[in-house]
Amino acid sequence: MTTTPVRSPRSSTELIRAEESVLAHNYHPLPVVVARAEGVWVEDVEGRRYLDMLAGYSALNFGHRHPALIAAAHRQLDEVTLTSRAFHNDRLAGFAEGLAELTGLDVTLPMNTGAEAVESGIKVARKWAYEVKGVAPDRATIVVAAGNFHGRTTTIVGFSSDAGARNGFGPFAPGFRVVPYNDLAALEAAVDETTAAVLIEPIQGEAGVVIPDDGYLTGVREVTRRAGCLLIADEIQSGLGRTGTTLAVEHESVLPDVLLLGKALGGGIVPVSAVVARRDVLAVLRPGDHGSTFGGNPLSAAVGSAVVELLATGEFQRRAAELGEVLRGGLAALTGKGVVGFRARGLWAGVDVDPAIGTGREISERLLHEGVLVKDTHGSTIRLAPPLTITREELESALASLEKVLTA
Ligand SMILES: *Cc1c(COP(=O)(O)O)cnc(C)c1O
Repeated sequence: MTTTPVRSPRSSTELIRAEESVLAHNYHPLPVVVARAEGVWVEDVEGRRYLDMLAGYSALNFGHRHPALIAAAHRQLDEVTLTSRAFHNDRLAGFAEGLAELTGLDVTLPMNTGAEAVESGIKVARKWAYEVKGVAPDRATIVVAAGNFHGRTTTIVGFSSDAGARNGFGPFAPGFRVVPYNDLAALEAAVDETTAAVLIEPIQGEAGVVIPDDGYLTGVREVTRRAGCLLIADEIQSGLGRTGTTLAVEHESVLPDVLLLGKALGGGIVPVSAVVARRDVLAVLRPGDHGSTFGGNPLSAAVGSAVVELLATGEFQRRAAELGEVLRGGLAALTGKGVVGFRARGLWAGVDVDPAIGTGREISERLLHEGVLVKDTHGSTIRLAPPLTITREELESALASLEKVLTA
């Protein structure tokens, strides 16, 4: 990254004030105005540099502007960017072939955002329940876990257990049953002949990187198999290398029937999501049943294919696993020194800070002043999810900044 400050006609303070007057207040951003980024580093309007330990909530697993992804996007910008699915495009087949190879599943339904992939998964599961399982019309149920985060549409927030996400947005769609996460007996009791699917995050990201007990995912797979319903794994945040494997379900060698991908699938460049599933499951969709104007566009497919190619090398998964040990070791060393608990897998951690030291927000603000970007999830929990391209030295410096902030 060059060191000359971005020539912005307005300062950070002016831009923040302007945003506050003309944008909806559905976010409470940290007071930093990013103007440029490369790899794990971002630079603000005044030229200050920050180490990005959030990585766009895992949308930037390969860092900012990864050269291979930027090159793929540039190449595609010069050819064709949008066709709509009214016509074929020359990039889509390769993208879906790559996803099948990467995931062990068969067929892809391309969408754009994570919430759309979740909505699409819900629609497919219901249609499958009526057409294949033989559930009575409009009776299909989907079992979800408390503490879930699957997106922000009205259907999805309707089965959220977060009051802030739900309140004021009803009435909500029926057909969902909420069970405690990491509780196989509760799941077993909730599935029946109406169950189309169990929809689950293999690790709950927004809840604070909540990792279920060993055996839970295997158990969920067994329960769904016995109940004759689908297992839908929402790997929008946990997937694509973050946890040290391509998918988080691989830690238990579980293959879901339906996999939801998003965030890093767009390489931090364009929104790209996908429902990747068994052939017989996605076969319930026929022309006219479902669609998206932008889903599967050639620019998204080109970037998505480049993401799949990066993951096919295994390098990022390996880095996440190896550096994950450094992260885990660093957090273990801070336990009792401001950290009261943490959960980590690969380059992904939820860190519970002693509330006496500060809220997650306050810790995030102090880290910002140390040149490290993180975000609180809720209460006194912060999430660490650096780009998988981070070096050991950079990771150690972020941990040192955390120690400094916690022990100051
Ligand atoms: C971010 C996220 C979503 C929603 O993705 P959007 O692109 O923001 O709609 C869904 N599920 C999980 C697990 C996520 O982390």
